[in-house]
Amino acid sequence: MTPIQIAIVGVGKIVRDQHLPAISKNADYRLIAAASRHGTVDGIDNFKSIEAMLEAVPAIDAVSLCMPPQYRYEAAHLALQAGKHVFLEKPPGATLSEVADLEALAAAKGVSLFASWHSRYAPAVEAAKAFLASTAIRNVKVIWKEDVRHWHPHQEWIWAAGGLGVFDPGINALSIVTHILPRPIFITSATLEFPENRDAPIAATIAFSDAGKLSVSAEFDWRQTGKQSWDIVAETDAGEMVLSEGGAKLAVDGKLVHEEPEQEYPMLYRRFAELIKAGKSDVDLAPLRHVADAFMLGRRKFVDVFYD
Ligand code: NAP
Repeated sequence: MTPIQIAIVGVGKIVRDQHLPAISKNADYRLIAAASRHGTVDGIDNFKSIEAMLEAVPAIDAVSLCMPPQYRYEAAHLALQAGKHVFLEKPPGATLSEVADLEALAAAKGVSLFASWHSRYAPAVEAAKAFLASTAIRNVKVIWKEDVRHWHPHQEWIWAAGGLGVFDPGINALSIVTHILPRPIFITSATLEFPENRDAPIAATIAFSDAGKLSVSAEFDWRQTGKQSWDIVAETDAGEMVLSEGGAKLAVDGKLVHEEPEQEYPMLYRRFAELIKAGKSDVDLAPLRHVADAFMLGRRKFVDVFYD
């Protein structure tokens, strides 16, 4: 099969860290163009806007949209309308309704839409899912605490409305939780902490339940200095399961049972190629729906101003 001729839009941190290396190592793809207002990629045609790129390079089969979520819908709509397959970085959009609209457009145009959730491809996630399916779960605690100044320096979009604030990393935890738990969960209460000078939360505490009254709690906090925590802990009849380091390691009762090298973006691009070949889309909105529910049901608490 001839390679999928792919283009990238929004050349920033995640494109350089992950998308470019993953695409270059996958023979299913050939990167032929990029569109970004400031960023460029060496060795291919670069454009200032997706409109200019789609017009100048009709050979593009697929585009990866890596700009902040508030600006993704318009680019996705243009690409789908032009008959291109579309890979959406996480979160897939700024609202649930705009992503549903894109899903319908992809179906109407007969192209693939992939709402990617990179953390679901962390090395130990499938092993955690299999472990939880094999036992009875008593409760689950999610602890996602990191230093925003270290991970998101000067990213203004992340603090703007639609940027999700602490839910930008928190949605990664939710993408894992919604994948590994055997039944759907829903939020029963939440508290969101907003710095007085920001439109997005710096911390959130959330309680979930399910039809069987399972207790699931989540603590997201961006003020964590020192050791960073990206852990999911489940008390079960078969012992305490700890899925740590963002899904990289799995331990049961303190014994490491699964660890392998991280391959999240290579696996995302393998999945996207499979979808294109099969003529399918993959748009699971569960993680984004929980974030929307937290904003809908959550109490607001105002906390100290934040400057980075
Ligand atoms: P970023 O570097 O701040 O932004 C990516 C690029 O988007 C920028 O370089 C910029 O390129 C373009 N952009 C910024 N503001 C824009 C605007 N107002 N309108 C149109 N384009 C704009 O962000 P990032 O860290 O790469 O994150 C991008 C997406 O990937 C986010 O949804 C994030 O959640 C996700 N992600 C990030 C990471 C990470 O570690 N950073 C990990 C996984 C997923 P130009 O100025 O050249 O247009």
